Amino acid sequence: MIIVMEQGASREQVDHVCQHIADLGYEAHPIFGKSRVVIGAIGDERGRTQAKAALEVQPGVESVTLILRPYKLVSREVSAERTVVNVGGVEVGGERFVVMAGPCSVECEKQLFETARRVKSAGARILRGGAFKPRTSPYSFQGLAEEGLKLLSAAREATGLPFVTEVVTERDVELVGRYADMFQIGARNMMNYQLLREVGRSGKPVLLKRGMAATLDELLMSAEYIVNEGNDQVILCERGIRTFETFTRNTLDLAAIPAVHLLSHLPIIVDPSHGTGVRELIGTMLNAGIAAGADGAMIEVHPEPENAWSDGAQALVPDDFDKVMESAKRFIVAAERTL
Ligand code: PEP
Ligand code: MN
Repeated sequence: MIIVMEQGASREQVDHVCQHIADLGYEAHPIFGKSRVVIGAIGDERGRTQAKAALEVQPGVESVTLILRPYKLVSREVSAERTVVNVGGVEVGGERFVVMAGPCSVECEKQLFETARRVKSAGARILRGGAFKPRTSPYSFQGLAEEGLKLLSAAREATGLPFVTEVVTERDVELVGRYADMFQIGARNMMNYQLLREVGRSGKPVLLKRGMAATLDELLMSAEYIVNEGNDQVILCERGIRTFETFTRNTLDLAAIPAVHLLSHLPIIVDPSHGTGVRELIGTMLNAGIAAGADGAMIEVHPEPENAWSDGAQALVPDDFDKVMESAKRFIVAAERTL
């Protein structure tokens, strides 16, 4: 249920309604907006008609609405205001179109630092790089682990760019959280509900990538797991889904971007690197993502893609990343945003 408080409702009235929600056996999630307070009441759906009637008559309550969609806290119905996620001082979901760029995997200091400096000068605001890699083959490079996290932290120190990096198991949440500005939950782990709960409890921003066979309802339900732990700092990522097409690595579902904006208050970014797997297509699909209303993008960049330890075929060299960013600028202006 969503309880919309009257404009000017007092703090006592809000507290009283929250207490009443708890007494009815629901969990209260108050959201303090600019002009009014909205309270989400989450719990067992049976008995909600009686609970609605009981809450409607409380002082300061303007209206009570039942949420019919399976996800609640991430839905547009709960908050008409868009969520802005703060990633180490960089806001995602606001006016700026935020580009996160860097190598697929962190390999060594030289590779990471060179990439970090170049993506920064091209206009990226967040560094990406995997220290724990979820690989299809157990024989492929699995990441530098803590050594990679240390290199990412040193690159942040050197460039001032906050960083996002993947966490693949709940056992590593504490370790990764000690270094990273934002957790990445990869496509393969979108439905790892224990991991989602754990990053939810951490309170740190989370970049949640869409699973390769996940519907938007399933993506939003996964986001709900994180927000339900009290952490609303979630950014969604469209990274392509699996279809019968084989020329591209995945099929980038651009309609997911305006659809998520229709359904949810959470920001969504586009990943044209994993979304296509083909270097030559990344610039165009980035521009298409901007036109579709994405709040940002994630792009893989590597100084020597032919020697990359993962995802070399989709990595842009820094000079090409410069060109892609240059071309994106006009689309960003047309989308009424700034870089
Ligand atoms: C990545 O970002 O390098 C990655 C593994 O992405 P995804 O989970 O979308 O495949
Ligand atoms: Mn990758």
